[in-house]
Amino acid sequence: MTPSLPTLPLSQLGGPGKGQFKYDFIIVGGGTAGCVLASRLSLLPGSPTVLLLERGGSDRGWMSSTPLMSTSWQMDEKKCSSIPTVPQQGLDGRVCDMLGGKILGGASTFNSSLYTRGLPSEFNIWASQFDLPSWSFSKLLPYFISSQNHRPNSSPIADLLPPSNTASAYTGADGPWATTNPSVFTYPSSKHFVVARAGFGEGLKIGLGALVHKLDLDHDGTCKGVWFSEDGKPESTLLHASCCQETILTSGTVFSTQLLLLSGIGPKAELEELHITCLVDLPDVGRGLADHLSVYLPYTVPITDSLDRLENSPLHAIKQIASFALFRTGDFTFQGSQTAIMISSTHIPEILSEHSPYSKERPLWTSSLAEEEVPNLEILPLPFRFHSSMDDGKPDGKTPDLRKGKYNKSVGYLSPISILVRPKSTGTIKLKSKDPREIPACDPGFLTDPADLPVLIQGLRLAAKVVDGMIAGGYDVKPIEKNNPFAFGKECSDDELKAYVKKWAVPAYHMSSTLRMSGQENDGVVDGCLRVKGCKGLRVADASVFPTILAVHTQAPVVVVAEKCATMIGEEWSKASH
Ligand SMILES: Cc1cc2nc3c(=O)[nH]c(=O)nc-3n(C[C@H](O)[C@H](O)[C@H](O)COP(=O)(O)OP(=O)(O)OC[C@H]3O[C@@H](n4cnc5c(N)ncnc54)[C@H](O)[C@@H]3O)c2cc1C
Repeated sequence: MTPSLPTLPLSQLGGPGKGQFKYDFIIVGGGTAGCVLASRLSLLPGSPTVLLLERGGSDRGWMSSTPLMSTSWQMDEKKCSSIPTVPQQGLDGRVCDMLGGKILGGASTFNSSLYTRGLPSEFNIWASQFDLPSWSFSKLLPYFISSQNHRPNSSPIADLLPPSNTASAYTGADGPWATTNPSVFTYPSSKHFVVARAGFGEGLKIGLGALVHKLDLDHDGTCKGVWFSEDGKPESTLLHASCCQETILTSGTVFSTQLLLLSGIGPKAELEELHITCLVDLPDVGRGLADHLSVYLPYTVPITDSLDRLENSPLHAIKQIASFALFRTGDFTFQGSQTAIMISSTHIPEILSEHSPYSKERPLWTSSLAEEEVPNLEILPLPFRFHSSMDDGKPDGKTPDLRKGKYNKSVGYLSPISILVRPKSTGTIKLKSKDPREIPACDPGFLTDPADLPVLIQGLRLAAKVVDGMIAGGYDVKPIEKNNPFAFGKECSDDELKAYVKKWAVPAYHMSSTLRMSGQENDGVVDGCLRVKGCKGLRVADASVFPTILAVHTQAPVVVVAEKCATMIGEEWSKASH
């Protein structure tokens, strides 16, 4: 039987004064990384006491375990934080929405569940450029393997994959994260990691609806605990929880950064402007915000080939619900996309000029790819309407809401998305005020580096070429005339495509690198053990510590950061207790 979660009312987890409630470890943010850590730390020998504080609630019901349905939570503000960017100069001043989790399990409860790790050479660049030898790919591979539960399957797409993709030297079969080759049902959320898979120890206590306001820091930078209150109730009492060993921030890139700044850890001048006493002057806090930027091309396809059919045909929807409920098959197992092209833009001109299928093999799975060979583009063919405005031509940079906007119900949609996965543009996170409820000013600096726009343009050209191949093969796919720059078979100039990108590009929700890890002195925010520099008893373990953004979807690497953090803490805990 699945154990129930060890949640308690907040008044039983913290008190108005210091020292009433003590824990060995406090974890701030019960999202993707936080749940992994809570599970691992509470299972350490000697059953340490672990407090996990999560701002959101916990989902009950079937939606989170139905892949296609859980992605709809991306539009639910109770479960998902919508984080507006500052106006993006690179996108003609548009404000975009970035998303983060606000629920136990975090973004893993509603993301698209694409499992990607990052290429060996990317981690090896981390290791060599930032003096982080224990973060090389060979050092991280055991964590990827031990966290993974790979279940190969047969499907039209899976059968095309070369056997090396499932080689046992790289894949795990016994871990808590279920992954498959494409098109099979998985049960991927981090909350389920705690509840049903890795389990938890008796010392774990979880506080839901708990907004952590700031860390309780001594003047020498020692973290003594946290201050928190009930979220959404400004009048509720501020509670304190003390920590005897360590506090670990896993609040996601934006909110872990905000918490350090609110606690007086960050660039001194910036903090003083807001009358926050700077306890640890760390200039790199909030610098280096990076996210992937994506732009799609709209096409129509036969309704029978698109997920749009679920909305347009009640009979089809009922059949699919039955198929999922009875056999765990059908459209509801779908999680976003079943295949992707990862490519370096340096190869695209050659591909575009070729008339025969491109057949050169390039071994990406080597430990030291030349910089220009590391893929900087991903093409994801999504078999549904991606943007509410796809037909009516009004981009707003907001989270795509598939329920809104005009569209033609007699056809299906295909939306190949080009994603810039190695952006050179980066930006900042800065506080707007001392209020922990106010979302900080997030500026990912989209397209501020002139190298980025030409790469995305190459991505659009490649995506259009792939679709051209489908048309040439006799498939009924048509560009939507109003918005697709490749409509009417016309040649598109780079200027037209630049304007298109600026008008339509949206974030891919893979924010990272604002609390960069670095083994070098006077660089970055956390060291190779994820400890905040200049502080004691304080670590960060989420995507904010990535030294550079990885060219992949970020969940698996975030899980590995949390796993490695738990191992490092566990080793110290074991030494101390013997
Ligand atoms: C819509 C979407 C789709 C995605 N699709 C994929 C995909 O298909 N594959 C993939 O690999 N990656 C995907 N990602 C990215 C991936 O999900 C994230 O990188 C990863 O889940 C981030 O984990 P995290 O632990 O850093 O943050 P989160 O999972 O967001 O967790 C942070 C948690 O901290 C809590 N918190 C924040 N502030 C406080 C506070 N002050 N007090 C208490 N709690 C707080 C939040 O409520 C939240 O639950 C997607 C992301 C999104 C948003």
